[in-house]
Amino acid sequence: MVATTERDGSTWYECEECGLLFDDRSDADQHERNCDAEEPSYIQ
Ligand SMILES: [Zn+2]
Repeated sequence: MVATTERDGSTWYECEECGLLFDDRSDADQHERNCDAEEPSYIQ
């Protein structure tokens, strides 16, 4: 899920998986769909 954060008077979009910041929501959405940072730790 993409989180929004305000910094220096503008809105940024943060990938909650890896913490990357984007200034464009569609960029963040697209990144997060391909983001592999989350590991399914419940699978052994
Ligand atoms: Zn990410």
